[in-house]
Amino acid sequence: MKDIRVRIAPSPTGYLHVGTAHTALFNWLFAKHNKGTFILRIEDTDIERSSKEYEENILEGLNWLGLNWDEGPYYQTQRLELYKKYSQKLIDLGLAYYCYCTPEELEERRKIALQEKRAPKYDRKCLNLTSEERAKYEREGRKPAIRLLVPKGKTVFKDIIRGDIEFNNEDIGDFVIMKSDGIPTYNFAVVIDDYTMGISHVIRGEDHISNTPKQIFIYNALSWTPPEFAHLPLLLGPDRSKLSKRHGVTSVSEYKKMGYLPDALVNYLALLGWTPQEGKEVYTREELIELFDLRKVTKNPGIFDITKLEWINTQHIRSLSREKLADLTLPYLKEAKLIKEDSLNWEYYLKVISLLQERLKLLSQIKDYGDYFFLEELDYEKETVKKVIKHPEISKFLRMLKEEWEDLKDFSAHELEKSLKELSEKLNISTGTLIHPVRVALTNKTIGPSLYELIEVLGKEKTLKRIENFIKYLDANF
Ligand code: GLU
Repeated sequence: MKDIRVRIAPSPTGYLHVGTAHTALFNWLFAKHNKGTFILRIEDTDIERSSKEYEENILEGLNWLGLNWDEGPYYQTQRLELYKKYSQKLIDLGLAYYCYCTPEELEERRKIALQEKRAPKYDRKCLNLTSEERAKYEREGRKPAIRLLVPKGKTVFKDIIRGDIEFNNEDIGDFVIMKSDGIPTYNFAVVIDDYTMGISHVIRGEDHISNTPKQIFIYNALSWTPPEFAHLPLLLGPDRSKLSKRHGVTSVSEYKKMGYLPDALVNYLALLGWTPQEGKEVYTREELIELFDLRKVTKNPGIFDITKLEWINTQHIRSLSREKLADLTLPYLKEAKLIKEDSLNWEYYLKVISLLQERLKLLSQIKDYGDYFFLEELDYEKETVKKVIKHPEISKFLRMLKEEWEDLKDFSAHELEKSLKELSEKLNISTGTLIHPVRVALTNKTIGPSLYELIEVLGKEKTLKRIENFIKYLDANF
């Protein structure tokens, strides 16, 4: 079997899109599964729309996802000589020709063709120019583009995912391979690159199916064997239109910021168009590599479902070690100014993580779910407090509870629970009458991890101080 060499070839004209990440992932999995080579090529020939910022974002995003490349990045703008050489070769072979038509002339003729109900493809006006005609155009200062002479007949290629795909060559006009400014078009550069880089399999989005016959013409014209093709299903939004900003966040860096784990995004993207094993949804990277089979990828589009992605993220967060999760969540607390590096008690932080790990769907939620562990004082909200005050004498009861807890030698979850229960029995009230206000007093929230466990972590001093403040708040406001 020939060497497996695949590539991801993003154009740096936007931030790394989840669709590109999806394509990159399938190439990467294919390469890893087959011990092949994964190549990164930056298709930066659209000079106006390309930028360094986008390029950096793409490289960063692929790195963050762990889709490490073995070769590259190669840049098309550094390979212009190569495209020139091969376009010249095609001219010499009589399989491509110079075209001096201006965009305005082309547009004019396109309109007429449409009016006359003819296919608006290039009319081959420049196919057989005499040297006099060429010289005349050159004197006018026109710079020629180069067009490929599209052969007659049909073109069939075998797609690994979709089977045979057939095109009628008549439907395809002689297309430009080199623009008049010496920059190759996508279809030309991609062939020269894929061939010279020894790409064995072109795995890309199905939006490129219609480009494939054009690329095959070029392979054939240069007497090169084309690679194998596999066109992946596109990612769609819930309304089944192509995934775009309208559907929400589409750039990988945004997902990173929101607190998704790269392993979770990789896991989720792998399931769009592929079912590694029936009934199983959570996979490690190693499992995905092991199971990957390009032939099992489906034609059906992947519907991007953020709820499912979030669920998968939750599962991956749960399987992290406490230390790792602490490392990963720390930046969010710092950003929210809840923690300063020099005052961080790591042991305390690890205990907080143990309490919250099960509840986090996103890393960034640490600051919403766990802020009270780091705040000095809580700003109680009347609406929240109102919800949990069920007894007119609550403030008196809380004072009694505080006194009980002041005397506790062992400020452990077990002892705290025991004393709260005893007090409720004594007062003939339900434990909930105390539990809910205590939770709000300590956390400013109505839900959260086990109350006694969180109190044990919060510690005696903070707990008693907060109950005291809460009683004062109740006395002043209710
Ligand atoms: N630059 C193209 C894109 O981003 C690459 C397509 C291909 O893989 O051939 O869509």
